[in-house]
Amino acid sequence: MVTKAFSRPFTQQEPINQEAIDAATQVLKSGRLHRYNTIEDELSEASLLEEEYAAYQGSKYCLACASGGYAMSVALKAAGLKLGESVLTNTFTLAPVPGSISNAGGNPIFVEITKDLVLDLDDLSRKVSESKARFLLISHMRGHLVDMDKLIQIVNENNLILIEDCAHTMGAQWKGQRSGNFGLAGCFSTQTYKHLNSGEGGLLTSNDEEFMARAIIYSGSYMLYERHGAAPRSKVFEEIRLETPNYSGRMDNLRASILRPQLKNLEKNINRWNARYQAVESELKEINGIMVPGRFEEERYVGSSIQFRIPGISKSDAELFVKKNKELGVELKWFGNDDPSGFTSNHKSWKYVSRQQLNKSDEILSSLFDLRLPLTFSIDDCKHISKIIIECSGEFIK
Ligand SMILES: *Cc1c(COP(=O)(O)O)cnc(C)c1O
Repeated sequence: MVTKAFSRPFTQQEPINQEAIDAATQVLKSGRLHRYNTIEDELSEASLLEEEYAAYQGSKYCLACASGGYAMSVALKAAGLKLGESVLTNTFTLAPVPGSISNAGGNPIFVEITKDLVLDLDDLSRKVSESKARFLLISHMRGHLVDMDKLIQIVNENNLILIEDCAHTMGAQWKGQRSGNFGLAGCFSTQTYKHLNSGEGGLLTSNDEEFMARAIIYSGSYMLYERHGAAPRSKVFEEIRLETPNYSGRMDNLRASILRPQLKNLEKNINRWNARYQAVESELKEINGIMVPGRFEEERYVGSSIQFRIPGISKSDAELFVKKNKELGVELKWFGNDDPSGFTSNHKSWKYVSRQQLNKSDEILSSLFDLRLPLTFSIDDCKHISKIIIECSGEFIK
């Protein structure tokens, strides 16, 4: 080996900025951490976050809640999912996605992915007709957007109810339209490893008033929904408030207070992530035998992580490749492992779902590697990492 080892952690985010720390301190000093604990005409931090996120997103309504996974399961419930109903979703995603479907009483049907890591639209069309499913929970996994024009055509032709998992596409756009605004609802996470960091947290957006009124009541608003930020008119709540259970999952003011200042920096940070992404992408793309997923021109992505494939690599070689990188300080995730490890798992280990044949995705996942690009890495760090990956890949490229 000629390249020296890399020594920075892949899971280290930037510190919470001073403005956010000051805002959090204010909330702590006030003692009013619960979102409905307000005085006089005060709008709580949670409500202000909802208003500001709705404005950023360009949606009418926004609900701040406990997590991204919670936002997805409440979205499915508020959209009318019935017990045992099928929900189409991507094969390539993370455990909270099938988990949220299961939590909402649904039954996940996995749709194959393409080499560019997006939903295979032919398989989607096939499975829509076979299953007669009414719901599609699309996961824009690792920030890869499918051709949204073609997707929307399929959605419209089949009257599908579309919910978007935007955990990795907060801030992303397709032809200038923000990811999350293409269907009934967008679901976002503010967990530490996503694009805004409050430890845990979720945001749900929509333009549909009845849907949002239900989601707000589900989230545990009691009868205090009038204190929400970007919420539907009271009249809409009156019609559904007694038939909608309270599934407690609110966001508190402390989290909201540290998210509001971060939101102001999101656009700037997207450019910083993309500079890092492009630094790695441009190096890996040069190597014959390493495939970096393609991107559409219509897509404005957020490169907070990067993926690549070594087509034809065997399972034992993939493990060895990960190990060699690890020895040089580069933490790769491999999606081909039958046994889940850390945050990474695949459909074979989601045994509460009936087993499905997904040969195309299995083949893609068995050659797929993934790495985070936290903003604590410099562009030089990214070049260093690329060099190590390329060096380690030499013996495995066919
Ligand atoms: C993190 C994540 C979620 C869920 O977010 P939580 O806030 O952790 O519940 C959903 N989908 C994907 C793809 C994720 O990475």
